[in-house]
Amino acid sequence: MKRRYFVGGLAAAAGLSACGKSASTNAECADGGSQETFEWSMVTSWPPGLPGLGAAAQNLADRITRASGGRLTVKLYAAGELVPAFEVFDAVSRGAVEMGHGAAYYHKGKLDAAQFFTAIPFGLNAQEMNGWLYYGGGLELWRELYEPFNLVPFPCGNTGVQMGGWFNREINSIEDLEGLKMRIPGLGGEVLRRAGGTPVTLPGSEVFTSLQTGAIDATEWVGPYNDVAFGLHRAAKYYYYPGWQEPGPTLEAIVNREAWDSLPDDLKAIVEIAAQSVNSDMLAEFAHGNATALAGLADNPDVELRAFPEEVVELLRGYAEEIVAEMAASDPAIARIHASFSAYSEAATQWQRISEQAYLDTRP
Ligand code: CA
Repeated sequence: MKRRYFVGGLAAAAGLSACGKSASTNAECADGGSQETFEWSMVTSWPPGLPGLGAAAQNLADRITRASGGRLTVKLYAAGELVPAFEVFDAVSRGAVEMGHGAAYYHKGKLDAAQFFTAIPFGLNAQEMNGWLYYGGGLELWRELYEPFNLVPFPCGNTGVQMGGWFNREINSIEDLEGLKMRIPGLGGEVLRRAGGTPVTLPGSEVFTSLQTGAIDATEWVGPYNDVAFGLHRAAKYYYYPGWQEPGPTLEAIVNREAWDSLPDDLKAIVEIAAQSVNSDMLAEFAHGNATALAGLADNPDVELRAFPEEVVELLRGYAEEIVAEMAASDPAIARIHASFSAYSEAATQWQRISEQAYLDTRP
């Protein structure tokens, strides 16, 4: 037995197939190792070539293909190539394609509970999301939620805490939110509405022009890395922080249940490990990209970096808690996820205060 493992290990290390050529397609090797090959399609919510989010999807496809030595090849399709951006969930669910990459909060309206697995305003940051999902029961709840849809979800990318956004109006008090026309999607938009503002949903392609022409007063996008690449610093003066609306948005990879079940265990492991590697890789990319881009803004006289006033943050947080409590009261599935999420949040906050936050406060 030992010798066989050794030989197999050598072959694998050398990138060689343990089986003959005739056995390499849709067949089992004589010694029982599976050499069946799989060709999967992955649809995404991202336009072609989108840096950051789109790159994460491409990385996932490439890493699975490479790590499996081509036994599982994943071909990526940008939004609109096979299905529109917001039909990724349905396409993978009904088995039209094997795999998808996007964000769970896009399923709002169809599956409101899914928003907890991307971002909740004033919710968990990236480090906490990973703690909750991988070790705090979050991923089990996510898998359970997607089960009836024939989907297996994986955390697969995180931008880290975002920025509050670009404003052409100063926010000095609660009154300044009144009538504020801002591009801010999802629950963050609902929070703004309760505070007297007007949330607007715009496709990415229209954000810059709308801000520049004054069609909107403000927009949130991601953080310095993506915002500067988008040119938003040329369309607005005030750059507000923090991004209370998306404190640690997690992207998702979803796999069709039958496609998943058809994989041998080693390919399942490759998919799982590739997704986890992309999840941490994207966070590292954004940590670096945001720090570098922010430093580049420091000398720009046309940009003023500002913190939201405390009374504004408190008001917004109050509305966010109200909205989430209403969601939980309306749906037992949301109530269960919310209970787990908020218990985790409470414990994590205590720890973060005396660890990351206390440590950062020691820096000049
Ligand atoms: Ca955002």
